[in-house]
Amino acid sequence: MIHIRKKYSLLSHNTFGISATADTFVVSDNMNELRDTLRTAAMPVLVLGGGSNLLFVSDTCPLVVHPALKGIELTGEDSETVLVRACSGEVWDDLVTWSIARNYSGLENLSLIPGNVGACPVQNIGAYGAEAQDVIESVETLHIADGKQQPFSKQECRFGYRDSFFKQNRGKYLIVSVTFRLSKTFVPNLAYSGLKSMLPNGNISMATVREAVVKMRRQKLPDHPLLGNAGSFFKNPAVSSQQAEALKSEYPALPLYTAAGGLNKLSAAWLIEQCGWKGKRNKQGNVGAYDRQPLILVNYGGASGKEVLDFASEIIRSVEEKFGVRMEPEVNMI
Ligand SMILES: Cc1cc2nc3c(=O)[nH]c(=O)nc-3n(C[C@H](O)[C@H](O)[C@H](O)COP(=O)(O)OP(=O)(O)OC[C@H]3O[C@@H](n4cnc5c(N)ncnc54)[C@H](O)[C@@H]3O)c2cc1C
Repeated sequence: MIHIRKKYSLLSHNTFGISATADTFVVSDNMNELRDTLRTAAMPVLVLGGGSNLLFVSDTCPLVVHPALKGIELTGEDSETVLVRACSGEVWDDLVTWSIARNYSGLENLSLIPGNVGACPVQNIGAYGAEAQDVIESVETLHIADGKQQPFSKQECRFGYRDSFFKQNRGKYLIVSVTFRLSKTFVPNLAYSGLKSMLPNGNISMATVREAVVKMRRQKLPDHPLLGNAGSFFKNPAVSSQQAEALKSEYPALPLYTAAGGLNKLSAAWLIEQCGWKGKRNKQGNVGAYDRQPLILVNYGGASGKEVLDFASEIIRSVEEKFGVRMEPEVNMI
């Protein structure tokens, strides 16, 4: 069933709580209807999931399409794994609980990440030592320009740290469903050291990992219906090993992690905190860096996208001035 609304408020469709309007807002739970909408669309299309990884910096969007495709099904299995196909309109955390209830392992570390399944490949969601790319087998899409179906293998998705082909080609594809390869046996991923210490001794199961992740997330992250935010606003910057060594000798407490391509990843939260932003607000008092996790920018009420962006730009500038490192936003600017 398709619903088309004109001059539609997007306020309740973004976790930042920013006011913006869609000239046309289309919701459909039917692939053919979505395909017809895309075929006849003569304007840039914003595909909107749960709105938990974007910032509306412009007051209006010409055409917003919200795929409400539902369904989770088993599409294959071998002795060790199952293939699970989930439609893009499913809530991500519902898929996580669905898989844990059936003893399919691989998603438990990604518990409680807001948003829908369709967005999980876009920024290759990650948390607590796991990333969506660890379990994604393939992605099915509609090409926005002509409405044709186009499948993507995992390699073709070109996943990187909070990055993918889809993030680099925003507005070109609508993700219809994602197929995951999950393990029939529980394979604990305790790469994130803080997770191990949260687990009850000798009782490591998918359910206890989920409980620990949920507990940590609730302690650390603001509840977006109460305090508007889009999770981590910035990516952790990657620098060369020479730059990392030079910074480490000047700032011995600097946390360093190894990253792909021989680079070193720095903690954006640490850099931001060292520049004095933790708990700070803008002049108007409506935007700030969260006091328990400064990587998260929050809307304390009534902030515009531009005010959030201006605050973020000040943070980027001060980190660059102090450390010579330029941070990039993780959140999509719309
Ligand atoms: C409190 C909080 C905590 C968070 N924690 C994490 C975390 O731990 N790890 C993490 O990785 N992220 C985290 N996020 C960010 C966010 O939840 C994820 O990026 C999530 O996958 C976004 O899903 P969404 O459906 O809300 O996407 P949206 O915000 O609606 O869209 C994000 C981008 O994906 C595109 N998109 C969405 N759906 C589709 C589709 N079907 N087809 C094509 N393109 C699409 C949009 O056009 C947009 O560019 C957090 C956010 C919040 C608010």
